[in-house]
Amino acid sequence: MNTRIGLIQGDITKMQTDAIVNAANSSLMGGGGVDGAIHRAGGPAILEECRMIIARQGSCKTGDAVITTGGMLPARYVIHTVGPVWNGGKKNEDEMLANCYSNSLKLALAHRITTIAFPNISTGIYGYPKREAAKVAVNIVSRFLETDHFLDKVHFVCFDEENHSLYKTLLQL
Ligand code: ADP
Repeated sequence: MNTRIGLIQGDITKMQTDAIVNAANSSLMGGGGVDGAIHRAGGPAILEECRMIIARQGSCKTGDAVITTGGMLPARYVIHTVGPVWNGGKKNEDEMLANCYSNSLKLALAHRITTIAFPNISTGIYGYPKREAAKVAVNIVSRFLETDHFLDKVHFVCFDEENHSLYKTLLQL
């Protein structure tokens, strides 16, 4: 058990952390699932910044992460990362998913963020098997925290019971 990792079942838009992470798509123009919930709760400022990012750099690649304001959310920032679409498991999905977590954490550190909340990236519409995704997420975050001493707390926010119970087991809570 790592006291710098927290587990919550609920809605990530309610998190009062410095940043919340969005499971976005490469267009950064919003969508369903957690992406839709974040844009609805955060208001138009987030989409406006996403548009500026796309205008500057083009679409966001799988595994990459970008940062915007949190708009009307309790969180000050939203880190948008593009998870891999599950394609059977032989298309580097695990590496790309790990990149989502590590690139989001690196971006958080660059913005002096000390508390951050992650959803279960790729396990909704993108179809990544939940158990496999949870293993990748817990491993990469645990490894990151071994060498980082700035982040105070990383929360995993699970929307559904299945993910919550998988994380509970993996985190030995
Ligand atoms: P993806 O396209 O990356 O699969 P989804 O948004 O479809 O993204 O799903 C990612 C995860 O986010 C799923 O486990 C889903 O249950 C969860 N989710 C959906 N809405 C919320 C929310 N408001 N807060 C936290 N997690 C959410």
